[in-house]
Amino acid sequence: MADNNKPALVPSILTMKCPNCRKGHMFSNKSVFPLSSMLQMPEKCEVCGQKFELEVGFYYGTGYVSYALSVALYVFNFAWYWVLIGLSYEDYSIFYALGTSTAIVLLLQPWLMRISRVLYLYMFVKYGKGERLKAEG
Ligand SMILES: [Zn+2]
Repeated sequence: MADNNKPALVPSILTMKCPNCRKGHMFSNKSVFPLSSMLQMPEKCEVCGQKFELEVGFYYGTGYVSYALSVALYVFNFAWYWVLIGLSYEDYSIFYALGTSTAIVLLLQPWLMRISRVLYLYMFVKYGKGERLKAEG
């Protein structure tokens, strides 16, 4: 049953590869710069022809995904800050933690927006199951 040529799921998500073949890139630019075109995606996968925008407005829901990831990132930042430095109102460390977290979340925002789209498409398109969608579209 195991397909040895099947690229692993997590690295494919992190490198933002097509969910169907896990080879084609989901985004036109490999870098998030320039920011104006960071969310530009080819209409179809260059390798397998998998459509990336399954329907019009398909990615509207990703706003919630990137929001949830941002919140998770905040919690994570506060967790390590609390463990490593400690959080307190007295020495203002809680405000530093808040500032640091905000900076990190803002800096990672382009990446978060991209990974949200990737995760979203991975929920709908399973590996090697994209042909049907291609036939429909
Ligand atoms: Zn593909």
